[in-house]
Amino acid sequence: MLELLRLRKRHGSQAIPDIVKAELMETHRGFPEINESRFSGNLDELTAICPTGAIGTRPLSIDMGKCIFCGECEIQSAGAIRFTNRHKTASTRRDDLVVPSGLAYEEFGAKAIEAAGGIRKILGRSLKLRQVSAGGCNGCEMELNACSNVNFDMGRFGIDFVASPRHADGIVITGPITGNMAPALSDAYKSVSDPKIVVAVGACAISGGVFAESKHLNRTFVGEVQVDLFVPGCPPHPLTFINAILDFLKRR
Ligand code: SF4
Ligand code: SF4
Repeated sequence: MLELLRLRKRHGSQAIPDIVKAELMETHRGFPEINESRFSGNLDELTAICPTGAIGTRPLSIDMGKCIFCGECEIQSAGAIRFTNRHKTASTRRDDLVVPSGLAYEEFGAKAIEAAGGIRKILGRSLKLRQVSAGGCNGCEMELNACSNVNFDMGRFGIDFVASPRHADGIVITGPITGNMAPALSDAYKSVSDPKIVVAVGACAISGGVFAESKHLNRTFVGEVQVDLFVPGCPPHPLTFINAILDFLKRR
């Protein structure tokens, strides 16, 4: 018993009291800051090192919806690309995930998430989500699991994952959507009653990520339904996901 009490004291409080203000360690790769004027090399060579085709030119840009945050371009760009530890990188518009040279984090954050006031009116203070792993590597799924643990405690905001789509207000997709999982994803979506939201989590769900060129994917679903929220990362940090949902629901 004494040993347990000592352990409890040593661990201290595990919970993050303020999810909104919490910051991540310096080594976390979050929002990229790009300064094209610092790059004097060959842009085509720089784009060629990216495994997912996330680097664009004219202007130099990074598509966070494709980026797996491997950091290789930061090493090769001689200071033109720097990943900050700023983690609120989600957006309600797919196009806004493309970060061009010169775009500051604050500027991105000011318009990234268009709050869905109407949804909040309907759903009140509760949001139940059904997570569908459509061929993911389990990285995104583990981080989503962590959202409900004692550290992040997403449930305190009334946001929970539920087992049945019949009990859900929306679908959270992870993984690149393999051919085998496409019908199951579609069935789960249809089983959620209207109005419902769709959240794409991770590079795989948003763009196919490293699997984008695979012939075993069937991504027709993302062309057919409206995706309300894009949460980039590989995998996204729990704080990125929770803050994105809170912003979307205007639950500050
Ligand atoms: S950090 Fe992102 S943009 Fe840079 S090389 Fe890796 S995947 Fe490509
Ligand atoms: S985005 Fe990355 S972590 Fe998430 S399922 Fe794909 S490969 Fe795994």
